[in-house]
Amino acid sequence: MKRLALIAPALLLSCATSGPAAPPAHGSISNLSVAKAGDRFCEHKVPEASCVQCHAELAPKFQAVGDWCGEHATPESQCLICHPDLSFAPLPEVPAGADVKRVSLQGEDVASLGEHAVPGKVTLFDFYADWCAPCRKVDEHVYGLLGRRSDLAVRKLNVVSWETPLAKRHLSDVKSLPYIVVHGRDGKEVGKLGGLDLPALDRLIDQAAQR
Ligand SMILES: [Zn+2]
Ligand SMILES: [Zn+2]
Repeated sequence: MKRLALIAPALLLSCATSGPAAPPAHGSISNLSVAKAGDRFCEHKVPEASCVQCHAELAPKFQAVGDWCGEHATPESQCLICHPDLSFAPLPEVPAGADVKRVSLQGEDVASLGEHAVPGKVTLFDFYADWCAPCRKVDEHVYGLLGRRSDLAVRKLNVVSWETPLAKRHLSDVKSLPYIVVHGRDGKEVGKLGGLDLPALDRLIDQAAQR
């Protein structure tokens, strides 16, 4: 820090008049690295077709959407150093006829969850990201429940990254995804659950169904 303070004034002077601003150290994770069915994975454990270490010419495509880890010179969505639990698998399919809606597609803010609670049903507000592997376990579990009971509604909120307006409003105290907020049949919040804990989720759903 000390050294930085000493050189900073000189840097500021020279940067003020010439040269582009330094790129940010970290970007946000886009869905550009999500694998399609049948995709092959390369030695970098990334879908080969989108791997920037295999195809350096793809880098600008990722940089253009801000999906770039400056620290490790790789897309944020492929940086297993910054995100060891990255997943490239497509998200599980929603069962036909299930009450599942997407409330935030790309991290846009949702001021009030209560407005989106479905009267007479238990509503799960599922905060997830495309890169979140444990979120897929929640999907598999919850989609199974949706096939068996009709008093359940799921509202999905794509956090995208920790920097989006959605994350800033709802996840400021949340350490890891998945993050699920459960509302009862009366529309009121029953509880919140951070991290993967399916038995706890089942208990919350049961509690919410009593209300
Ligand atoms: Zn590769
Ligand atoms: Zn990184």
